[in-house]
Amino acid sequence: MEYNALVEVYEALDSTSKRLEKTHIISEFLKKVPKEDIATIMLLLEGRLFPRWDSRELGVASRLVIKAISSATGIEAEKVEKEWKKAGDLGNVAENLIKGKKQATLFSSSLSVRKVFSNLQKLATLEGHGSVDKKIGLISELLTSATPKEAKYITRTLLQDMRIGVGEGSLRDAIVWAFFGDKVKIAYNVEENDIQIEDREEYNKYVGAVQKAYDATNDFGPVAEAAKSGLKALEKMELSVGIPIKVMLALKVDNAKEGLERVGKPAEAEYKYDGFRIQAHKKGNDVKLFTRKLEDVTMQFPEAVSAIKKNIKAKEAILDSEAVGYSKASGKYLPFQSISQRIKRKYDIEKMASDFPVEVNVFDIIYYDGKSFLDEPFEERKKVLKKIVSEEKKRIVLAKSITTSDEKEIENFYNEAIEKGNEGLMLKKLDAPYRPGARVGYMVKYKKYRETFDLAVVGAEWGEGKRTKWLSSYIIACAGEDGELLEVGRVSTGLKEKDEEGLSFNEMTKILKPLVISEKGKEARIKPKIIIEVGYEEIQKSPTYSSGYALRFPRVICLREEKSLSEITTLEQVEEAYGGQKK
Ligand code: AMP
Repeated sequence: MEYNALVEVYEALDSTSKRLEKTHIISEFLKKVPKEDIATIMLLLEGRLFPRWDSRELGVASRLVIKAISSATGIEAEKVEKEWKKAGDLGNVAENLIKGKKQATLFSSSLSVRKVFSNLQKLATLEGHGSVDKKIGLISELLTSATPKEAKYITRTLLQDMRIGVGEGSLRDAIVWAFFGDKVKIAYNVEENDIQIEDREEYNKYVGAVQKAYDATNDFGPVAEAAKSGLKALEKMELSVGIPIKVMLALKVDNAKEGLERVGKPAEAEYKYDGFRIQAHKKGNDVKLFTRKLEDVTMQFPEAVSAIKKNIKAKEAILDSEAVGYSKASGKYLPFQSISQRIKRKYDIEKMASDFPVEVNVFDIIYYDGKSFLDEPFEERKKVLKKIVSEEKKRIVLAKSITTSDEKEIENFYNEAIEKGNEGLMLKKLDAPYRPGARVGYMVKYKKYRETFDLAVVGAEWGEGKRTKWLSSYIIACAGEDGELLEVGRVSTGLKEKDEEGLSFNEMTKILKPLVISEKGKEARIKPKIIIEVGYEEIQKSPTYSSGYALRFPRVICLREEKSLSEITTLEQVEEAYGGQKK
């Protein structure tokens, strides 16, 4: 398939902000995509080159793309950079410069989806000496044969900033409309932006099947391929041990009563450990560990790997757990910050494991000896856990829990949890399935901390005076219904002037600089990868920010390195907190 066909779709998606229309555009396109290209197309629609669970990275920053544009057009890198500062978007710069260069010739596209995809994927394999030049070569080869519009989207894909506003929900629905639309008689009316579905029940069945296949694989590519073959193929898609799935998320409650109302009685109450989530995959003697961002951290936690190998009595299993650091001297749990440095560690791993060991607290099982447990009730999953985890203190244990309907008992258990250095409790619904990636209220967290939000940094501003070297003010965003990022204000307090005092402007600048997508004047747009915990005094309605709200007196509390974009505070939670403060 021609890359140009995809580019036309990108442009169409860019030209509307209506979700249904976007879904319609994608679904009409998917009907035309040949089967051999469909998996690739699904990834590229998300602006990805690898599925979500694959941790390979392109290793391409704006500077490198500037050099590649320069090499493809013969225009000096400084000039490209100047244009970038003016236009604020490197995609548009690439488009314009290529247009200027090729003015005399006709734009005939010769790029196939396959060629673009394979050149871009190759970037991830290049490392070390000479790799920068090779990368520039691969990119400029593409840009040289690209039409201006193609160059724009190749550039945006490189920077992982597609600006077409397509979320997972739209992709899922587009697959349903494309491949099962005829069965349930879907009609989309463009003028009225309205959708008619003759058989709703049947439609929901297909949506459920696509969602389920996606939950199991975390990759719309094979899901769309299967859907094209039919419902049967879709229903065959299963979890595979070794490929991480998204973890189930929790809603927040303020007391035992509210918790029980949410999850029903009796409920399971468990300690809420202050560590970080580990999804452990065991296949025979092969163990892999993933964070909730689906990053592979097997190497970083050898003691957890050996505990799982030795103490889990199963040939195959996928477990959900919290790894908690503890003090070797006192045996007491330590707060998350004390082990957070281990997550990204590449050297001195054994020493770190011995100085800052973790205990694995297992609380759920998703797969066991050939069978997916996603649809089994929590109660049953817990039974299996009790059978297969052979507990060993300070290595691997079951999360401490009670089953109860009694508020008082929960409050007492809560106090006990806090005394032992935990964050509070999790309350869980006994008859609920496991829902990957969803915050459906099958488990709720009960902690009495003051309210803070976990927000994504989407922009930043260079400081003034003695702060000119630093990105010192940050534009922060929460998540809308379809995962889109909505700004809720700017924060510039809470960070330190000196590195020794804690999270500093300097450190934050180092983290954000490689993520700059575009700059205009003092303002930079930042690729949304960094999550920070932000405290505030009050929430106000505000027309200035896209969420419609602004935080008053916000302050940065800490980096949340272990959190992913799918877990940031949602607009619904902001609204809830806003409503709550009026009471
Ligand atoms: P939060 O990060 O505040 O949204 O709280 C949810 C997180 O608590 C989960 O993602 C886990 O990492 C962590 N957690 C600690 N103990 C448990 C437990 N017993 N069950 C489930 N999650 C837990």
